[in-house]
Amino acid sequence: MSVSHVFQRIPGTRLPRAVSGQGVFIEDETGQRYLDASGGAAVSCLGHGHPAVIQAVIRQQQKMAFAHTLFFTNDTQERLAARLAERFPEPGGHVYFVSGGSEANETAIKMARQFWLSQDKPEKHVVISRRQSYHGNTLGALSVTGHGKRRGPYEPLLHDWPRIAPCYSYRHQEAGESAEHYAQRCADELEEAIKRTGADRVSAFIAETVVGASLGAVAPAPGYFQRIREICDRHGVLLILDEVMAGCGRTGTWYAFEQDGVVPDLVTLAKGLGGGYQPLAAVLARSEIHSALEAYGAFTHGHTYVGHATACAAGLAVMDTVLDDGLLERIGPSGDHLRALLRERFTDHPNVGDVRGRGLFIGLELVRDRDTRAPLEAKLGLPPKLRKAAMAHGLICYPGGSTADGKDGVHVLLAPPYIISEPEMEMLVHRLGLAMDQVLADA
Ligand code: PLP
Repeated sequence: MSVSHVFQRIPGTRLPRAVSGQGVFIEDETGQRYLDASGGAAVSCLGHGHPAVIQAVIRQQQKMAFAHTLFFTNDTQERLAARLAERFPEPGGHVYFVSGGSEANETAIKMARQFWLSQDKPEKHVVISRRQSYHGNTLGALSVTGHGKRRGPYEPLLHDWPRIAPCYSYRHQEAGESAEHYAQRCADELEEAIKRTGADRVSAFIAETVVGASLGAVAPAPGYFQRIREICDRHGVLLILDEVMAGCGRTGTWYAFEQDGVVPDLVTLAKGLGGGYQPLAAVLARSEIHSALEAYGAFTHGHTYVGHATACAAGLAVMDTVLDDGLLERIGPSGDHLRALLRERFTDHPNVGDVRGRGLFIGLELVRDRDTRAPLEAKLGLPPKLRKAAMAHGLICYPGGSTADGKDGVHVLLAPPYIISEPEMEMLVHRLGLAMDQVLADA
């Protein structure tokens, strides 16, 4: 292989070169095929090489690739915004398009801040978040992220705002405690944090509706977000739901929060919005937020590629395909089937503590001991070992660490394309089993 001048994510690593993608498979230059069981990181919701999306991108490029949105609006961002607003449970939502999930969360944090300025409440700026969360790698998004390893080197550059516990039944619901009681107890931590900080200083609370990269598809206990919504309303705190991973149908409804009976003030979307065909993300603001900023006369923000016409063309084609081709309805049953296959394969596996998730957003929590739920130690360095072993068996999955308590613990996140077939799910489970058996035999 010739010398590479790419500054890789892990500097100096040598990676296979991906050369083509079709359906749920990616192929490298040696001809090795990988079943993309995590859509990269919950991105490729339609798989690879989808003709409708590719054609939409080509058509838009031929008509007009880009026109700066300070000067013009464009057809694809108008149509995609209208479609996203139509799916939002309340009328009057407005959508701000950016290029990635971190940018979307930065934008939401700034929208919340400027909303409070518009209300003549300049003290409100603190954003409360949760431990074991991931909201992105830019400094604002990292400031609200509760993941020690990702924050570590940058701590001096970050805000140290309050973080409460995640809603994580597998670890924190006590024996004999009902799911509903646990949900209330957990949500009540927000009220305590707001009181400690002073409601007059708190701008927003941000949480992933279903936690992805840092916990491995952990859905909230029933009633959790309803209680959170009540607390936010009581104290004048905006609710930002981060659906960068969980949104756009991944959990079986277009917005994941539809299953939790709440409406956020701001919701962020990314990965499955462009499906990997273009870098695209969005913040949808409830009507009240948009009207306030309209009356205020400004939203001090902006990036060059806000509302990029070609990116929105891809997003529109992805959304049209998911909603108009009956894919959304398939996600729930496909997810149930895949979870059933996983449970069957790992029923006797001593290290598989939990198989969980919603729709095609699935996590396996790996433990040292199934009975005590003792976590696998961070020092074993299992996530990269699992990733590499899976690749050697022709599988892309997304393992992560620090699951159990922010330090120890391991999970594997699966987020396959919505088009995955039953035979492909069987292949996925078989290959994952081979990789896990191989790596965990030495753990
Ligand atoms: N929020 C969540 C929930 C995510 O999972 C991620 C990325 O994995 C982000 C934000 C950051 O998105 P991006 O990597 O596109 O900046």
